[in-house]
Amino acid sequence: MKGKKTIALVAHDNMKPDLVEWADWNKELLLKHSLVCTGTTGKMVAATLEEKQLGGKETADVRLLKSGPLGGDQQLGAMIAEGKIDALIFFWDPMEAQPHDVDVKALLRLATLYNVPTAVNRSSADFIISSPLFDGDYKPVVKEYRSYVERVLKK
Ligand code: PGA
Repeated sequence: MKGKKTIALVAHDNMKPDLVEWADWNKELLLKHSLVCTGTTGKMVAATLEEKQLGGKETADVRLLKSGPLGGDQQLGAMIAEGKIDALIFFWDPMEAQPHDVDVKALLRLATLYNVPTAVNRSSADFIISSPLFDGDYKPVVKEYRSYVERVLKK
């Protein structure tokens, strides 16, 4: 996980101002990495970073997936299963049920299963990106599921 990383950013509607502010605060660092975002979050983050490009030299590398409730969370989950995401910053809303609650749960489940560093609020996001491990050669250990995959089921 050394060098340029792929960071996933997602925020529920009530949490988007928080994420945009966090992205603005951390723009210099975020411009060095690739970002993958659910649709609406990504548009807001890209607009924020583009406003702030460093001397016009670095351009924001932001990939937009579908909007979360329209499948974006599931697209991100698939990328996690394929080992394409180095960190997940997911500001989910603790005060409001979402129409796509099952997708939210699935995304968090896969991030946990694949041991992806996951932040769910600004303080944990700050801790992840400021960790010395973030710039190092840290490789998250993924549990071995061979015995599960190769289990023999009765016919
Ligand atoms: P959005 O999706 O960025 O398209 O609003 C976020 C979510 O998963 O709810």
